[in-house]
Amino acid sequence: MITIHKGHIFHIAGAPKVTQAEQALAWHPDGAMAVDERGRIVYCGNWKDLPASLANAHIIDHAGCYIMPGFVDTHMHYPQVFCGDSYGGGQLLEWLNNCIFPSEALLADPEYARTAAIEWCDRMINSGTTMGLIFGSAHPHAQDCLFETARERGLRIVCGRGVETVAPDWSKQKSSEEDAIRLVRAEIEKWHPLTAEARKEALQFVAIVPRFSLSVTAKTLKALGDLYEEYRDRGVYFTSHLNENARPKTGEIDSTKEVYKVHSYLDTYDGKFLPNSQVGGKSLLGKRSVLAHCVHCTDKELARLAETGSSISHCPVSQFFLGSGTMPWRRTVAAGVNISIGSDYGAGDEFFIPQVLNSCFKAHISEATPVGMDPYPTNDQSVALHPAELLFTGTLAGARALDQEDRFGNFDIGKEADFVVLDPAKCQTMGMTLKHMYKNPDPKVARDAHMFAVIMLARESAVSATYVRGRKLKASK
Ligand SMILES: [Zn+2]
Repeated sequence: MITIHKGHIFHIAGAPKVTQAEQALAWHPDGAMAVDERGRIVYCGNWKDLPASLANAHIIDHAGCYIMPGFVDTHMHYPQVFCGDSYGGGQLLEWLNNCIFPSEALLADPEYARTAAIEWCDRMINSGTTMGLIFGSAHPHAQDCLFETARERGLRIVCGRGVETVAPDWSKQKSSEEDAIRLVRAEIEKWHPLTAEARKEALQFVAIVPRFSLSVTAKTLKALGDLYEEYRDRGVYFTSHLNENARPKTGEIDSTKEVYKVHSYLDTYDGKFLPNSQVGGKSLLGKRSVLAHCVHCTDKELARLAETGSSISHCPVSQFFLGSGTMPWRRTVAAGVNISIGSDYGAGDEFFIPQVLNSCFKAHISEATPVGMDPYPTNDQSVALHPAELLFTGTLAGARALDQEDRFGNFDIGKEADFVVLDPAKCQTMGMTLKHMYKNPDPKVARDAHMFAVIMLARESAVSATYVRGRKLKASK
């Protein structure tokens, strides 16, 4: 049985780089996407060009709605589900100590953890996020709740317990060195698809997730590197934070270099975590490795990320919130690193990826020579990202960061049909603007303005349906 979804369809076709996104844009105002009983796309294009062989298919008419690929969020914190807009009285490290560690400790209670897992999956579905790379809880029962709920709902997730071997005792997050590795291994064995056959169909995967280098020791990094090496060829992921807060001396970057005595923060994840960046173990970098933030990377660090096929999760909303600065767009793109998008909920306070892309646009059009260096910047880094680049970053780049570009991220034939339906009638400003906005006589300019307005003006209320592999997902509320 084939189902045809009819609506205004757009996506980034093929496998372009971000700089080629505009050329790769597929835009079908009167579009149709046909999905087979296995949830695979068998046609995507104009309604009028629909092959005759599909004439008898079942039709779902999303009249007046936009159909775009499901959003891929490559950085979010499940134990922070109730932490959005927490006031910490400072930047990253104050916020962690004053707000986040105590909140995450609440998941030690199994009932609270169940509530958190259900709310988490509901929010993903209600905001059109079909795949999330998720920092998990240190508590195995809380992880089980999330994996179980995601499996029941049919959501895609990659998640791993947050590993901390250095943390205040009261945070209830700390594990012994032995327990840290034992519990990560147990989670992989329980929730990760370990055979190639299982991975082809799986929706849920496990990641190795040290919170950040300051939360672990050289001993932990060595053991995690050995563990990753053992499971690397079975599709296990690695994710952590990198170069987020640059406050001198007491900030995250200087503190990491001070504690490990390394030349660069990235070295700690790259097996070079001994003093003077000596090799002490296996690297955690690779094509299923995602580093969040990367606001203050050196050219050498960016080159190493590109060389290893690692990706960045860019989190502009969270960076605004914690005063971290922003990832330098031009320099990072030029280095050849894949840049995906992350809400970083709860340091970010937006779950809805188009709103994160909205902040991404604003961050980079405002990007300039650092304050204090030149009041009239001649080295202006400002860039007005094309809406196709925003769309690419929120969809296909995420699938690439998770090494699953062959499965989802756009509407190429043969891919699994992950998509979100946006109804402008459910979002007043979006709906009325799209209806009455000035239409440029140049069709290409008009198209770009139209797409930009959809992405920038959409709010969660516009999400009328979220599909994974052709199946409509149901939230509990
Ligand atoms: Zn984070």
